[in-house]
Amino acid sequence: MSHIIHRSLRQVPPVAVSAKGIFIRDTEGNTYIDASGGAAVSSLGHGHPDVLAAMHRQIDHCAYAHTSFFTTEVAEALADTLVSKAPQGISQVYFVSGGSEAMETALKLARQYFVEAGEEQRTMFISRRQSYHGNTLGALAVGGNEWRRKPFAPLLMEVPRVSPCYEYRGRGEDQTVEEYTQALLDELEDAIRLTGPEKVIGFCAEPVVGATGGAIPPTPGYFRGVRKLCDQYGILFIADEVMCGMGRTGTMFAIEQDEVAPDLITVAKGLGAGYQPIGAVLAQGAIVERLRHGSGAFLHGHTYIGHPVACAAALAVQQVIERDNLLAQVVKRGSSLRRMLGEAFGNHPHVGDIRGRGLFMAIELVHDRPTRNPFPASRKLHAKIKAEAMTRGLMVYPMGGTIDGRRGDHVLIAPPFIASTGDLAEIVGRLAESVDAALRLK
Ligand code: PLP
Repeated sequence: MSHIIHRSLRQVPPVAVSAKGIFIRDTEGNTYIDASGGAAVSSLGHGHPDVLAAMHRQIDHCAYAHTSFFTTEVAEALADTLVSKAPQGISQVYFVSGGSEAMETALKLARQYFVEAGEEQRTMFISRRQSYHGNTLGALAVGGNEWRRKPFAPLLMEVPRVSPCYEYRGRGEDQTVEEYTQALLDELEDAIRLTGPEKVIGFCAEPVVGATGGAIPPTPGYFRGVRKLCDQYGILFIADEVMCGMGRTGTMFAIEQDEVAPDLITVAKGLGAGYQPIGAVLAQGAIVERLRHGSGAFLHGHTYIGHPVACAAALAVQQVIERDNLLAQVVKRGSSLRRMLGEAFGNHPHVGDIRGRGLFMAIELVHDRPTRNPFPASRKLHAKIKAEAMTRGLMVYPMGGTIDGRRGDHVLIAPPFIASTGDLAEIVGRLAESVDAALRLK
């Protein structure tokens, strides 16, 4: 019996003992291809010598220094690097230990920004029905994932939600992409007006939806429209790039491809690429300036913020991405992966959509393609695909999404940026076998 509260309380997972490159091995001698980067975390693969060396150097140097006493060279250098790559106006960084903490921090920073301007009445966030922003109480409250929220609902703040930008399921047959996009923006504007613009702090959205939908990119112009509405009503746009950020879509920040600069951006997973738990909030300079000239402090803080070893790992990850030109590689490999998924699943009777950006791709499973009806939730197809893939030595990230009460199944494929085209072919081959094997199970 394990003394750990594992994700499943009924099953202890395999015990991982070693990991190198795109492979993870367990104590039973099984080898798995990590084709999901864990959960879009492991962008450089496992055991990268440059990252390990940077962490060792930092441990020898200064393993920990509390941020109420000191800053460190490595945290400052990491912040400089992130700011140098960030969208226009972003000039300040707050380090945390993961994605949920990053979202909590962004929500509080956004609230304090308005409090310092005397706008105490602003208490509301607006988000989208299909979203995941983390599991802590604030992040859970803004997330759209109903089944995750349900048991904790009485503990959560009230958050109005609007439709996600989910063209495959949302766009009507008689609607153009532009009309669909405009309808979504009108819905957001209605929600802002209904809530009362003077009460709204910000709008939260994932630029490319991850866990709840499977690599769903926005329609062209959607986020430009969001930015415009946020400016028009004086509210903040918070882009949650915890999963889709840090190069995963082929640009350092996913939102760059939408040509929009958010007020706050959260990142985590790919920031430390799994070598250390680290997340960050990136903020427009004007937000922090208001606090600097107001109370003089952000009323927040955790023991491990700006942890030097985590910052050293993240800095080394960023340096490897730059030195090895890995963003270009993500674009190139991403288009190979898209082509391979198209060849394997383009005519599959139960694959309705193949989508994503860069090395952040997904397939969506449907009962039948013409109606796009999902399989019944009780069939737990995503869980079966995951199990079948594991027996074939493949880690992918299948999930059951929820959109407007309809559950669906998708599989997220987010391999490390270092995966070769041969690796991608092997991944897609094993995935095709796993999907068909899972579909044969009732
Ligand atoms: N935001 C997004 C978009 C995520 O995908 C996740 C995790 O999957 C989180 C926030 C929460 O991050 P963490 O699990 O590191 O707390």
